Amino acid sequence: MAVERTFSILKPDATERNLTGAINAMIEKAGLRIVAQKRVRITKEQAEQFYSVHKARPFFGELVEFMISAPVVVQVLEGEGAIAKYRDVMGATDPSKAADGTIRKTHAKSIGENSVHGSDSPENAAIEISQFFSGNEIVG
Ligand code: GDP
Repeated sequence: MAVERTFSILKPDATERNLTGAINAMIEKAGLRIVAQKRVRITKEQAEQFYSVHKARPFFGELVEFMISAPVVVQVLEGEGAIAKYRDVMGATDPSKAADGTIRKTHAKSIGENSVHGSDSPENAAIEISQFFSGNEIVG
C-alpha cells in the first residue's frame, strides 16, 4: 500500500479537556507518524471555508461556532494508507456508533463535539493540508 498523507484536526472539545497527548498516543500506536503539527485558533472564515460542503446542513452554524470556540491542533499524518487508516482510528462520526478502541468512542462528547477530523479522500487531504501548512512545515 502506498504511503499517504492525511490532514487531522484535534477539535476544541479535545484541546479544552487536555487530550492532545492522549489522542496523539492513539494516532502513533496505530502506526501513523505526525509529520506536522501546530496549535492554532481558526477564524470564522477559515471554519466556514473548511466545512463549506456542509453549508446547507442544519448544524452548519453550530459546527462553525464550535470550531472557533477554543484552540485546535492541526496535523499532517503520514503512513501506509494513512487516509483510510486514520478514519478507522477516529471511528464513526457519532460516538455512540463508533467501534470500541476508536478515538471518538473513547473521547468524543457528541456527534458535533467529536474530538477529531480526518480527510476522507486523497483529493481532500491535499486541499486541507494546503489550507493550513506550507511545504517546509511538513517534515517526514
Ligand atoms: P466526519 O467526516 O466523520 O467528521 O463527518 P461529516 O463530514 O459528516 O461531518 C463533519 C462534522 O460535522 C462532524 O465531524 C461533526 O463535528 C459535525 N456534524 C456532523 N453531523 C452532525 C450533526 O448531526 N449535528 C451536529 N451538531 N454536528 C454534526
